[in-house]
Amino acid sequence: MCSENLNPIRPRRRRVLWRVLGMLPIVVLPLMAAGTVQYFTDQANSRRIAVADIDALGSDVNQATATVLWAIAARQSEAAVTPTLQPTLTDIDGDIAALAGQGAGDTRLAAVARSATAFVASLRGAVGQLDTGAAVATDDPRVQAEGAQYSQLITLIDSAVTALTADANQAEVISEVSIWASILAASGVLVIVFWRGERRRRREAVGRAHRETLEESERTFRLMFEKNPLPMWTIDPRTLAFVSVNDAAVETYGYSREQLASMTFTDLQADSTDGAAAAVLAGPYPSAGVGRLLVAGGGTVDAEMVVDEMETRGRLVHLVVARDVTEQLHLEEELRRRAFHDPLTGLANRALFADRFEHAQAMRARDDRGLAVITLDLDGFKAINDTLGHHVGDEVIREVGRRLEAGTRSQDTVARMGGDEFAVVVENAGIETAVQLTGRLLATVNGPFDSTGGVVEIRASAGVAQVVTAQTAWDAALQQSDIAMYVAKAKGKGGFHVYQPGMRSQVLERLEVSADLQHAMRSGEISLHYQPIVATSGAPRVDHLEALVRWQHPTRGMVSPMSFIPIAEETGAIVELGAWILRSACEQVAQWRAEGNEVTVNVNVSGCQLREPGFAAMVAGVLQRTGVPAAHLILELTETAVVQDIAAARRTLSELRDMGVRVALDDFGAGYSSLAYLRELPLDVVKIDRAFVSSLHDASQRVMVETIVRLLEALHVGIVAEGVETAEQLEQVRSLGIDHYQGYYFSRPQPARDVLLVQPRGEAAAERRETTRARAYAA
Ligand code: C2E
Ligand code: CA
Ligand code: CA
Repeated sequence: MCSENLNPIRPRRRRVLWRVLGMLPIVVLPLMAAGTVQYFTDQANSRRIAVADIDALGSDVNQATATVLWAIAARQSEAAVTPTLQPTLTDIDGDIAALAGQGAGDTRLAAVARSATAFVASLRGAVGQLDTGAAVATDDPRVQAEGAQYSQLITLIDSAVTALTADANQAEVISEVSIWASILAASGVLVIVFWRGERRRRREAVGRAHRETLEESERTFRLMFEKNPLPMWTIDPRTLAFVSVNDAAVETYGYSREQLASMTFTDLQADSTDGAAAAVLAGPYPSAGVGRLLVAGGGTVDAEMVVDEMETRGRLVHLVVARDVTEQLHLEEELRRRAFHDPLTGLANRALFADRFEHAQAMRARDDRGLAVITLDLDGFKAINDTLGHHVGDEVIREVGRRLEAGTRSQDTVARMGGDEFAVVVENAGIETAVQLTGRLLATVNGPFDSTGGVVEIRASAGVAQVVTAQTAWDAALQQSDIAMYVAKAKGKGGFHVYQPGMRSQVLERLEVSADLQHAMRSGEISLHYQPIVATSGAPRVDHLEALVRWQHPTRGMVSPMSFIPIAEETGAIVELGAWILRSACEQVAQWRAEGNEVTVNVNVSGCQLREPGFAAMVAGVLQRTGVPAAHLILELTETAVVQDIAAARRTLSELRDMGVRVALDDFGAGYSSLAYLRELPLDVVKIDRAFVSSLHDASQRVMVETIVRLLEALHVGIVAEGVETAEQLEQVRSLGIDHYQGYYFSRPQPARDVLLVQPRGEAAAERRETTRARAYAA
């Protein structure tokens, strides 16, 4: 802040000083040069004048000498020669005086002057002797001396002239050199001054441009900062106090500029211990990371922050750009959840199941406390979907999900694998725990459910597989528990089985069965056997039979309906198969009637058939075509067949009864046994299940059956005891007042051609019973 005002002052003073100093040589150098030139020019001039004076002295000396020598030779008198000589001598005196004036301090001039003075004096002496009239010979010693003096003087004059001329030349050269030197020095100085000036100008221009660029970039930054749609702050790197804030940040986070002035960035963090946010601020820059920031009025924003160092107005700050990623994170979380969860139930999906399983397997490497997988599949779910609609189906699936969650431990993972299939990863559990858990789960899942489509009886079958090796993959384990579950389904629904190594082939067989069944109906492998239903009192008559389907498979031999009927129900083939069974049974009854045997036939009907629209019409059509009176047909239904939609079942059953067809409730007491159905459904007969019959030796069971029998009597419903195998059982049944029974004790199911030949039991019947049994086994 201060530097801008203070620092530039010193450079400016120095610059002026430098400029002044730079100009000085330009003024001083020419002055110095002029002085030098003047001095040396004066020197040269004075030398040249001295030379001229000496020259004049020389010529005057020559002239005087010649005049005197002539006077001597011509023997002129002093008076005759004086007028000629005197001016010359005066000139010489003048010359000497001029020399003396010039050459003050110059020894050479002084010597010339001295010598000239002496020579003039000797000339005057010589002229004084002319008056004696004596002839002076040229070889006279005086003349000789005069000549020598003259020569000395002339020599002096010559050497002085030469020296002075050399001095003058030298001075001229020096003056000329000093002129050039000063010109060169001045030019040099000028060049330096101009060069420095230029350099400074250039530096200033660059500085100005730099300043402008800086200002421009600050202006741009300010614009980009203030008007940026992304929230931004600049903060002090040491105190984390806010230095500036943009409009978007004020708007998004709700803190005014005044509020922010007394806050630090830490105050903005939802969690001050948030390591991620701290790391972003700590660098190295640019750094980025996600942190949760507080909004003024409450609430938080998940912000992806990018932090960088920057200098603004000469100050180092941290620029924080915060992009709101709350929605994005939420979406990502949702996508992640979707990727691993079933949208209908919110349970784990197949992918998460696999993940949890593999994780559990990895944990076993460290601490093997057992691992198991449970597979659970609803019984008859297709029927629920088909009859009550998919929305009820969805409700059921959701309910099953809830029940499974309620029944499992926190460490178990319940997953929906698709459709009505569920699976559980049971961690830290040996086979006993897994089996107990499966039993508990089925107890929780099985039971009525009050759906929007009415009460639905939920039933499921389950399979358990213990994961033996740490190498078993999730799908292999799942396949094993699936196989166990298929076996449970085949053995009767609502229960579970534990996987055993031999099970796989059984199940594969089952799948093959489903494919073969279609072909079997067409090729005559399917036939009907009949089992008599006879009165408990009086002589039993074979006039009432239950038709039971048989499949003579070309490679498997006799296949039990217990194993292929459930498959036919699952695949829907039961509709066609059931219609075929009804038609065949009625055709058989028609044939027996034609042969004079009045026979009533019980035909088993599966729930899928009952729920088929137009089932009653189909039955009516068969009766009409075969000519069998409706009174000779009893349709057997299990509770499971009607339970899914009691109202619809009641409608169909009423329709059938209106036609004169009777309805029997099969397998009563086999599991569901709701007394409510006995009142709600239009029933003619109830068949007490074999399980009840075989437990009649138990007093409490007996009391229960007795109660049921009394109730049915009150409702005027006929009763048949199933599965009577021994005389004791027959006796127990009879003592309860049950009027009809069915079972191996009287006869096994027989082919049509044999069944009417079955003899009433008595002393003579034992032998026949043996043959019957032999035939049944052979079949
Ligand atoms: P279900 O309707 O209860 O048929 C009676 C089953 O008990 C028959 O088995 C019969 O052979 C057997 N049984 C009869 N007396 C005795 C006995 O004294 N002791 C023992 N242990 N068993 C006895 P099956 O023929 O194997 O049929 C099994 C089940 O298959 C039937 O049970 C029925 O639910 C189904 N089923 C058979 N035929 C048909 C059919 O034509 N249509 C439909 N939808 N289901 C059929
Ligand atoms: Ca039956
Ligand atoms: Ca039965």
